[in-house]
Amino acid sequence: MDLILSDIHANLPALKVVLRYAKRRAIQRFVFLGDLVGYGGQPNQVLDLIMHLRPRFVVRGNHDRACAFPGTDQFFSMPARMAAFWTREHLTREHLRFLQELPQGMQDVEGQYAIAHGAPRDEDTYLLHPREALAAFHGFEGHLCFYGHTHLPGIYELDEVAGTLTSRVPEAGSWVNLKEGCRYLINPGSVGQPRDRDPRLSFMTYDPDRRRLRLHRLEYDIGAAARGILEAHLHPNLAERLRHGI
Ligand code: ZN
Repeated sequence: MDLILSDIHANLPALKVVLRYAKRRAIQRFVFLGDLVGYGGQPNQVLDLIMHLRPRFVVRGNHDRACAFPGTDQFFSMPARMAAFWTREHLTREHLRFLQELPQGMQDVEGQYAIAHGAPRDEDTYLLHPREALAAFHGFEGHLCFYGHTHLPGIYELDEVAGTLTSRVPEAGSWVNLKEGCRYLINPGSVGQPRDRDPRLSFMTYDPDRRRLRLHRLEYDIGAAARGILEAHLHPNLAERLRHGI
């Protein structure tokens, strides 16, 4: 079983809940879709936990890039830019180097599926609408690519024979079987900053042998994550939005 995590955004209490879940289950592979840091108040602690796992399957996100390389945040809002600056100033040298060395762009998970942060070919592109997803299907080969960046869990299913593209949000806790002959772009949602008005953290588990997956939504200590943001003197909106899932 694979654990598919995206957009952790330096949210330590949320990541701890996910790792506790993973410990109880037969998780074999940890797969990270980027934005490990940015927005949240505990980047060093979060990177300690992630580096301890020695992740083999990880792509950098646009926030990881902005924290690692000054001047690469031109599309960011002011709170996001300030958070990237603050993160860079507070990272240990070891953690900064880890971010700088994260693989850029689409990666392959042992020939079974692809992973990306935004679109398969561009870490800054948001796949929010079917027309964007349709273009993104041209950006990878194979039947499945997991992506993040929008912080919205969902499944795009392309049936090239029938000529249809459908999108849906899976029900948390229910198994979803991927169909033979269809291609998929799938977003597990965000661990550290959900934006679908459900403040619970979001991630997926995927069984590549049986080609089935599950969305998970779990409670975590939002108050502790918000305090971490306020104590770091980051923009208070970054704390408030966690309570609303926006
Ligand atoms: Zn993000």
